[in-house]
Amino acid sequence: MIIAIASGKGGTGKTTIAVNLAIALEGVQYLDCDVEEPNGHLFLNPRLTDIISVGIPVPRVDDSKCTYCGKCAEVCEFNAIVVIKEKVLIFPELCHGCGACSYICPEDAIEEVEREVGVVKKGEADGIEVIYGLLNVGEPMAPPLIKKVKQFADHQKIAILDSSPGTSCPVVVAVRDSDFCLLVTEPTPFGLHDLTLAVEVMRKLKIPLGVVINRSDVGDKKVWGYCKKENIPILMEIPHDRKIAESYSKGIPLLKDIPEYRNAFKKLYQDIKQEIKK
Ligand code: SF4
Ligand code: SF4
Repeated sequence: MIIAIASGKGGTGKTTIAVNLAIALEGVQYLDCDVEEPNGHLFLNPRLTDIISVGIPVPRVDDSKCTYCGKCAEVCEFNAIVVIKEKVLIFPELCHGCGACSYICPEDAIEEVEREVGVVKKGEADGIEVIYGLLNVGEPMAPPLIKKVKQFADHQKIAILDSSPGTSCPVVVAVRDSDFCLLVTEPTPFGLHDLTLAVEVMRKLKIPLGVVINRSDVGDKKVWGYCKKENIPILMEIPHDRKIAESYSKGIPLLKDIPEYRNAFKKLYQDIKQEIKK
């Protein structure tokens, strides 16, 4: 079972929920697909066992075979390959590695070479299998790395998947095929606005969803009204607590500092299971 944790906006406590749900359940996988800024491992502190380079195939042209016909440039949807007179220019950072240019080349002049976009790190922390992607600095191509992290999901286990915030392409790639998505929000106008966008995305992807309201005693009550109107279950509410903020700032998981929350996270999982069965 894959439980994705997402949020319409950053800073809502998404990683706090994902990390502590993993700790409360024990023996699970924690997949960090927030590959631009993975930070769950800072709380879990895994002992690393593997670092795997992840790349995408980009074209390399053999000038001795190329006739500069321009077919490769015509087929590339991303303008990653351009033919000017007697020169083929390749822009590797725009290339999505689809292979269309090498397939179409009539002279068999294109070979594919691997370009690293990031690494996947694997490790173990107190019985939790931790897998996270780390995109190379300045690298725009997050989806191939996210897909690689997801390949390590063990379908015999529970996998807690931490997605990046927002509703853009990397979020869709991360949460797609999840059994459930938990959307973490806060009761503010910005929180509500971004929650509505995230709900739309999850509904389009046909992923059952529930909401966690963090810092539930600040702001207004509009998130509750919205969830009621949209028939979205609110599965957990966490009030603003200085101790939670302090443990977060020290990189200590909430459950290690305030163990009273363990039962609440276990109940959260039971409620998710009930929602999936509906
Ligand atoms: S399709 Fe092949 S032969 Fe034509 S310009 Fe591109 S690399 Fe050269
Ligand atoms: S592999 Fe695809 S994206 Fe990359 S240059 Fe070729 S056609 Fe364009």
